[in-house]
Amino acid sequence: MNTLFLIFMTGLIHLVPAPVKTTLKEGVFTLNNSLKVYVAPQAKKTAADAAVYFFETIGPSMGINAVYTNTQPSGNVLIFDLKDATEVPAEGYFLEVSPTCIIISASNGAGFFYGVQTLLQLLPPYVYEPVYHPDQDDPSLSCAVPCILIEDYPRFSHRGMMMDVSRQFYSVTYVKQYIDWMAKHKLNRFHWHLSDDNGWRLEIKKYPLLTEKGAWRGPGEVLATSYGHPGERYGGFYTQQEIKDIVAYAAKRHIEIIPEIDLPGHGKAATGSYPEILCNTSGEAELSIQGVSHNVWCATREENYKMLEDIIREMVSLFPSKYFHVGGDEVVTSQWSACSLCRDFMHSHNMSEPIELQSYFMGRMQKILKKFGKTMIGWDEVMEGGELDRKDVIIHAWQRVDKIKEATSKGYRVIAQPAAYCYLDMKQTIHERGLMWAAIIDLEKVYSLDPIKTPGLTPEEARLVMGVQGGLWAEMLDKPARIAEYQTYPRLCALAEVAWSPQENRVWEDFNKRLSQTHFERLYYMGINFRIPYPDAAYVNGYICARTDYPWMVIRYTCDGSEPDGRSPLYTGPISTDNPEKYLFASFYGNRIRSIVREVDLPYDRYQRPVTRVTGNVAIHPQTPYTVLEDNDFNTYLRVVKPLEEGQYILYTFESPVTAGRISVLTGLPGVDIDPADYAHVEYSADGLDFVPSGSEWKDGRCVFAPKGPVKAVKLCFDKGNMFLTSYIQDLRIDK
Ligand SMILES: [Zn+2]
Repeated sequence: MNTLFLIFMTGLIHLVPAPVKTTLKEGVFTLNNSLKVYVAPQAKKTAADAAVYFFETIGPSMGINAVYTNTQPSGNVLIFDLKDATEVPAEGYFLEVSPTCIIISASNGAGFFYGVQTLLQLLPPYVYEPVYHPDQDDPSLSCAVPCILIEDYPRFSHRGMMMDVSRQFYSVTYVKQYIDWMAKHKLNRFHWHLSDDNGWRLEIKKYPLLTEKGAWRGPGEVLATSYGHPGERYGGFYTQQEIKDIVAYAAKRHIEIIPEIDLPGHGKAATGSYPEILCNTSGEAELSIQGVSHNVWCATREENYKMLEDIIREMVSLFPSKYFHVGGDEVVTSQWSACSLCRDFMHSHNMSEPIELQSYFMGRMQKILKKFGKTMIGWDEVMEGGELDRKDVIIHAWQRVDKIKEATSKGYRVIAQPAAYCYLDMKQTIHERGLMWAAIIDLEKVYSLDPIKTPGLTPEEARLVMGVQGGLWAEMLDKPARIAEYQTYPRLCALAEVAWSPQENRVWEDFNKRLSQTHFERLYYMGINFRIPYPDAAYVNGYICARTDYPWMVIRYTCDGSEPDGRSPLYTGPISTDNPEKYLFASFYGNRIRSIVREVDLPYDRYQRPVTRVTGNVAIHPQTPYTVLEDNDFNTYLRVVKPLEEGQYILYTFESPVTAGRISVLTGLPGVDIDPADYAHVEYSADGLDFVPSGSEWKDGRCVFAPKGPVKAVKLCFDKGNMFLTSYIQDLRIDK
């Protein structure tokens, strides 16, 4: 045995998620186009799809096609062999590579599929790119697969990812792509958030208005513009045929699709399309946490249950999963207290709190679902207001980690999706796009989750934890292009390992090495627009120094105001300059993957902070008076609580005129960049009386302009077309 060789090879085997047990052996199997495939007779049914998938993947990149043989050849063969479930657990596999053959053994189709996924990770990363990769040095197109024995099976049976297609709509092609990438990471559940306040996304034949009206938002639509796309009719939905197609595509990849329609709150797309669903109320309605009114199904209108049963009947014919998610989060129960029907019902049923109606509603849903043989899943709020049938309800613990304990201690099965670890719409660092109400969630934070390490969890309760899941909410995913992938990867890789690998095999440093040394390259060839860390650049003693923690990262920069791209100059060492403010930096992986663009950290304040008075005529939230815009604190903001109208303005007046190369007028929540003003323009004045246009256009909720001469006042003027209820205005940024 050549020990050095083994140590060398161990360093190169970078599997994600990490398998249960790996034993490296001496030698290699040479994979080339004389490879034969032998599927053992008893494995024909279960292994066929996995074999096809393997060759569909390597065919285009390596030019190797499947050549099946009915007799087992003595060498150069890929063998699929069926084992008994007592030998290999469900979804598990053995993968054995020797110099003469590769054997994948499993007891079910998923096991063969995951064996194939691991085999693909033993091949060069370029196999994932459907482009022919002739090797310059080796025209025979062979590659060496290290001899190895892998024994593997998942830690959790539920390994999921949730996609919100209501706030942003994704095409059939993109959803399939997303599912295939998940499968490559051995995830097995796609939780599809198909309805919310911002769009109903699946065709229901009996209730056509759900998609005729409820799938669209914008000027003149039932649903107002939200989460980007100003001025346009935005939306879409999946036909039942498309749903069937996606479900079948996912099934081939051993991914079960769990549909969700969010009830009884988050229902604006439905209540907007069929207003009779709503409670019988009058007067002002309390807004939901996202600022939406009248989005709750009446809990006691009997016709609503009939309608929901009809909807579910159509859906269960599309989704074979035994699970069905009914939402249950963030319900504005004051709608029920204000409803004559609900009040009467509460009275006659001795209910004192409207939250008890939530429990009643969920109990009804659970009974409807049971009729169709489905198990109900609900967000953890469904535990409030009363007991549900523990055997038939699964709790989706999202609010905090302790909800895992709460639900399991009540005897419910649990899917762990604690927001502070699993919400992949959260920011990855303070400088990046994303929300942060749950936490700033970097890769290491996701990796650190162990759902059964919840404080106080007994072994019995831990057994009720079915698994773990990521969530990709879409409020912030309207831009830039492919941000859904940027938010998902590589954090999903970490989550996949949380869900699959034994806890004792999980070491952050080791994962990070496997990821950055090899798995990034796989993601690159899969075509994923994944996130890479940005470089730090600081100005010290006349020099800009840029640095990164990753040796593979290439740093490029610009000094002409444009953003760095693959042709920008390479950073090779400190840059001497007396004008560091004009430099921008970014890191690159290959030519395609770029980090966010960063300005240089300066040892002095980049901005002027003149004495400013702010006035205006917009509908401001009482907690944010105009004075918050006068403190030059860029974290404070003005909140506007009604849609901005033409003729409304914010006026920033300086005590004495300011001379600046550049002034930025910004809207949207600072650091989060949500809820900007979509339509506006900026004027400025030298004397505070006569105003001239800024000369720069309003784009993405901001205007950056270069004034000609000293400025006494800046006026942010709102134009026609702003529709969103809430918007935010920020302090001016005045360059030195
Ligand atoms: Zn009601």
